[in-house]
Amino acid sequence: MPFPWSVAGPHTASKQMDGNVSGAEVSHSANRSGSTVDGSSQRVSPFPELKPPFDRHNARYEAFRCLYCGSDDMPAPCTAACPASVDVPGFIRAIADDDVSAAGAIVFRENPLGGSCARVCPVEELCEGACVLEQQARRPVSIGRLQRFATDVCLAESPPAGKRSPDGQGHARPKVSVIGAGPAGMACAERLARWGYSVVVYDARPEPGGLVRYAIAPYRLMQAPLPAEMERMQALGVQFRFRQAISDEEAVRRLATESDAVFLGVGLGEDVTIRYPGDDLPGIWQSLRFIEQLKTGQLPPVGRRVAVIGGGNTAIDVAREALRLGADEVTLVYRRTRAEMPAYRQEVADAEQEGVRFRWLTTPRRFVGQDRVEFVECQSMRLTEPDASGRGRPEPIVGSEFLLPVDTVIRAVGQQRRTEWHAWIPDLNLKDGLIAVNPSAGQTSNPKFFAGGDAVNGGATVVEAVAMGKLAAEGIRRYLEPNMASGRPEDAVVVPTPIELAPQMTYRQGVATLVVNRAWCKGCNLCVDDCPVQTLALDDSELVYVKDMSRCILCGICAVRCPDFVFTLDRADMKRDADRQRVPDKVV
Ligand SMILES: Cc1cc2nc3c(=O)[nH]c(=O)nc-3n(C[C@H](O)[C@H](O)[C@H](O)COP(=O)(O)OP(=O)(O)OC[C@H]3O[C@@H](n4cnc5c(N)ncnc54)[C@H](O)[C@@H]3O)c2cc1C
Ligand code: SF4
Ligand code: SF4
Repeated sequence: MPFPWSVAGPHTASKQMDGNVSGAEVSHSANRSGSTVDGSSQRVSPFPELKPPFDRHNARYEAFRCLYCGSDDMPAPCTAACPASVDVPGFIRAIADDDVSAAGAIVFRENPLGGSCARVCPVEELCEGACVLEQQARRPVSIGRLQRFATDVCLAESPPAGKRSPDGQGHARPKVSVIGAGPAGMACAERLARWGYSVVVYDARPEPGGLVRYAIAPYRLMQAPLPAEMERMQALGVQFRFRQAISDEEAVRRLATESDAVFLGVGLGEDVTIRYPGDDLPGIWQSLRFIEQLKTGQLPPVGRRVAVIGGGNTAIDVAREALRLGADEVTLVYRRTRAEMPAYRQEVADAEQEGVRFRWLTTPRRFVGQDRVEFVECQSMRLTEPDASGRGRPEPIVGSEFLLPVDTVIRAVGQQRRTEWHAWIPDLNLKDGLIAVNPSAGQTSNPKFFAGGDAVNGGATVVEAVAMGKLAAEGIRRYLEPNMASGRPEDAVVVPTPIELAPQMTYRQGVATLVVNRAWCKGCNLCVDDCPVQTLALDDSELVYVKDMSRCILCGICAVRCPDFVFTLDRADMKRDADRQRVPDKVV
């Protein structure tokens, strides 16, 4: 499904090219002329934002589309799908109530990088993909854009919360050192500071955010709102030390001695380098270096024809970036087929629509040129029996070599694991070059060290790194103060479903009640089919009943669907006042 709200670049219909090449012949003049000023660089950027922000009116209008599913006992599907557990219906309701700063605060409560995540989360795979409206074949609520609206207003209007006193006890709280000011490190530090811990974050880079600042595509996020999000953490007492790499065994040892616990949020390393003849010719880039140039305002000239090597999300990103830099022909070279590409399907489709061409079942063999790269010598492949990854193993087809003319090549085949760095930490167990942790606490085999983010999961998303940072903060707290009450909510108490089925049944979940007037049911099954969490069923008499009230997310779709008014959902936690009933006019 294409982004209904996407305004990305000039879209033209895709056209199938010869063989395994597909893509669209498009003019990129609109990309080149599309310009915006972003971040602090004050430079005109060729990277207009993919998802422009809502204004207040349209945000409220969108917020009214939400069904405010879920309760204290059963999270809404969107919240359950968010790795950071953002209270999505909670913040969207606050927007509908026109209390936008409070909405932003609700987001930041669970996700201290909520403004950044609003711009970069793959929402189709996460919260929006789980929205009940999507499951009803309707457009899901634009959660990412609403989150951006709420967090932008909150960052602009609400001063950061003041520093927490150390629980009023007057004694020194434990000291935690965090290595890495990426999403994992920042989230861990923020949570610990909220509990009054003394937290110092070290980063080799001059600015916060890790890959968010230096690698995520500039048309999603250039720099803002990272500095403002960092300021909120500083107001809580987190200290940041930039340009301070922990770069040898002695530095790690010193930090461990000075601290009560250490969090490792060091991410992954540089691009994986697969050596090919000619790969030191000018014009050949590694993806992370290339993107870093864009994100720090030094736009590299790419020429007319660009080849991108790789099949993941980074390869897709750099291909789309090359188009925006003015290349006429961007060809992505991947050794398997479209089906095996690790990139998100939506991203591949968007890239294709923008004009990126794909040469599937193709691999580079060498780079050719005089003073700079002029051709990639490629070879066609075929897939044989599956390898360890379960995907067909690519095998070169003898005699299928051909030359692809290029001005620039960008190699994007993944990031290295940092086994050498990890070896400086005593007794640290690794798994496939990644830090092994206890999944419920983020604790490593060396009990003083905790870890999260890409260094543990091998590279995923920002919001997953945030979630791992939060989890490790809780693990650190339990390690340092075992008698402290857990910060987690109490276990849900669910009233059991009645067993005897009467003509009228009342089911309860927390303070909400669902009255089912079975006497009016005609057994049409509409509600059973449409319930997004399969809570309903027909009994032997073809009358509807609730199979398991604890699964109900209180979305009210059954009440809306039923032509015979069988259901009455009463949400005592959500009495709408007269003003909230008034949906704002749609502005067109
Ligand atoms: C090109 C690209 C595009 C991406 N796009 C998206 C996207 O659109 N959406 C999304 O959700 N995710 C995206 N991701 C993934 C996402 O950026 C990462 O999953 C996330 O940033 C991981 O966070 P982290 O904190 O674990 O590590 P990182 O973000 O890598 O941060 C690690 C930090 O540790 C610091 N550090 C490392 N070693 C040391 C040391 N020895 N001393 C001091 N500091 C150190 C580094 O300087 C860095 O700041 C993308 C990744 C890439 C590579
Ligand atoms: S943090 Fe990301 S995944 Fe979670 S609700 Fe917000 S946009 Fe969705
Ligand atoms: S799942 Fe429900 S609460 Fe979440 S965004 Fe969709 S309609 Fe709103």
